[in-house]
Amino acid sequence: MGPIGHFAVGLAAKPTAPKVPLGILLLATWILDILAIAFGFAGIEGVKRGIPWSHGLFMSVIWSVFAALLAARLYREYRAGVIVGLLVFSHWALDFVSHPIPFSSFSWRSWQWSYGHPLPPDLPLLFGSSPKVGLGLYNSISAVEATALEFGMFILGSAVYATYVFKKRKAGRS
Ligand SMILES: [Zn+2]
Repeated sequence: MGPIGHFAVGLAAKPTAPKVPLGILLLATWILDILAIAFGFAGIEGVKRGIPWSHGLFMSVIWSVFAALLAARLYREYRAGVIVGLLVFSHWALDFVSHPIPFSSFSWRSWQWSYGHPLPPDLPLLFGSSPKVGLGLYNSISAVEATALEFGMFILGSAVYATYVFKKRKAGRS
């Protein structure tokens, strides 16, 4: 799933973690992709090696627990840690439903954005040669539908966040 869909979850989580700044919640939902980019540059992950260190189920749990411990310590709150940990893991959960994401391209001639050939599952359970999973939602819907889905999620998440901010301001005034 793209960043828009992941950020939606971070926005929606704000009311459950008032102590944690929104930026940190958004970062938590996207940390696995940031790791994938970093590991890609470092040559640890890539097309040939796969993405076990950033998006493997096992390592995703490790990163989630690590983020949870860090946040609990940073914000001196058990709850903040649990929410941040769950947000990191929400990335894997959403990717599990949406992955594999076929390569997308935009044709200026037909003014159409579309996905290429469907791909095999790409989320490893462990490392190297372990089985790979992914329900492949984005294999079966169009690029336009996938984008609409993510923007829809983002609008819902923003609505939850906006309601929270509005209520908080109102409470602060009275
Ligand atoms: Zn991802």
